[in-house]
Amino acid sequence: MPKTAEPTAKIKLDSNLQKFISKPLKLLINGKWVAAASGKTFDDIDPSTGDVIAQIAEGDREDINQAVKAARAAFDNGPWSKITPSERGKLIWKLADLLEKNTEEFAQIESLDNGKPVGVARAADVPLAVDLFRYMAGWATKIEGNTIPISVPYTPGAKYLAYTVREPVGVVGQVIPWNFPLLMAAWKLGPALAAGCTVILKPAEQTPLSAVRLGELIMEAGFPPGVVNIVTGFGETAGGALAGHPDVDKIAFTGSTEVGKIILKAAAGNLKKVSLELGGKSPNIIYKDADVETAIQGATSAIFFNHGQCCCAGSRLYVEEPIFDEVVQGIAKNAEKIKLGPGLDPKTEMGPLVSHDQFTRVCGYLESGKKEGAKAIVGGEKFGTKGYFVKPTVLKDVKQDMKVVQEEIFGPVVAAMPFKKDDALISQANDTTYGLAAGIWTKDISKAHSLAAKLRAGTVWVNCYNIFDAALPFGGYKESGWGREMGHDVLELYTEVKAVCVRI
Ligand code: NDP
Repeated sequence: MPKTAEPTAKIKLDSNLQKFISKPLKLLINGKWVAAASGKTFDDIDPSTGDVIAQIAEGDREDINQAVKAARAAFDNGPWSKITPSERGKLIWKLADLLEKNTEEFAQIESLDNGKPVGVARAADVPLAVDLFRYMAGWATKIEGNTIPISVPYTPGAKYLAYTVREPVGVVGQVIPWNFPLLMAAWKLGPALAAGCTVILKPAEQTPLSAVRLGELIMEAGFPPGVVNIVTGFGETAGGALAGHPDVDKIAFTGSTEVGKIILKAAAGNLKKVSLELGGKSPNIIYKDADVETAIQGATSAIFFNHGQCCCAGSRLYVEEPIFDEVVQGIAKNAEKIKLGPGLDPKTEMGPLVSHDQFTRVCGYLESGKKEGAKAIVGGEKFGTKGYFVKPTVLKDVKQDMKVVQEEIFGPVVAAMPFKKDDALISQANDTTYGLAAGIWTKDISKAHSLAAKLRAGTVWVNCYNIFDAALPFGGYKESGWGREMGHDVLELYTEVKAVCVRI
């Protein structure tokens, strides 16, 4: 049985945070905090109890219109259109400093709102967001074009100076999910601001707190009004209005493949640019020549980190037959030891799933696996009577065509399958509609590289998993999305290339 943490051990909330959530949270439009035009608010829920944490403004079409107007003005004629790249970089760096200064408050916000252990938010979510802003601050002064020698055949003897410039794409709508609320805001805002775009950000309804608090820091850092607008609300209304808005030049989305396709259709009206970071069903492959103990630890964290609510979770585990039982038992043993509890309990190692919907979805997959003949050697059911907890689960006796192998569960559930050396491993590993990430565990370096080349995935980790860095691009093949986040590749998503040709 997974152990539960003492329910009384919750840490005392940071005093800033307590103050922050005690008042209804508003929308940031044109540098001002305003109520939704409709006056409506919605409840933000603590996933460890189901209790209400705060009241959030429910922005919809009218608020999106106002936010787009402000972003348009700031981009077209406002101070943002005149600011130097160096000044842009300094502002982004200042935001990183402010965020770092408030690390504890943001770690607690993420834990309270999403359910993740506060220690994880302190060690990963917040520092990664700080680092991303600093990395992107550096890029603001380095977005360059080329000079291009041209030889036009129909103007013999003429000379030209031809060059390209990279210009900001314009007004950008950004719709983000709930699994890493602050970090996803940073992944989206950092490159957009470095490139000189203005933004309307819509956080997920389940986890709006960190984006709103970040908005306060954005104002404190000194970004001009209208450069960053934050509209909390629901996907179908606020998100849909943003994706379809004719004055928005680009939409960036992270979330489900299903909604990614809806966004794409909504964007078709004005053919705005679209980038999508979508779902995954990532294969994690362990060869018998791997350092087995390290691979067991790695595969455990590949699936259970963030309660499996990671688009790149190592949710399909392929283990070479001779070590299959040892590996699967090892992961099951680790799973049994994981302490479940509220994220704000310092002893908690795994918190609740983010919402009742997500809890129902994951429990539905456990049921479907059972019906199709999969066996849970550990977990396989909900945990406790309050909040949205699911036990870390290892499924075996699974087959490639089962729903639990093909579909993204987005919970702490791994499907383990043995493979033989010359099995159809590569085609099985590639046999989903997704292509986000993959893991390989082996001491044979040539095997590792040749398999990495054959896997249809945007990221391949060898003898490690879930390694992220602001400099390392991340994104998917196939239905896992379009474009890359982070690294210098992401700047392509936020810039247009202009070719200038001068006869000299
Ligand atoms: P969604 O794709 O619905 O949510 C992601 C974001 O999209 C949220 O901000 C949401 O708003 C918004 N959204 C929803 N519908 C629309 C729409 N019609 N137009 C514009 N924006 C919209 O994911 P769910 O929260 O429903 O989770 C479902 C599944 O998606 C998960 O089980 C998981 O498989 C996958 N997922 C993948 C993620 C990833 O990192 N790639 C992250 C989250 C989920 P709101 O929440 O306010 O309604």
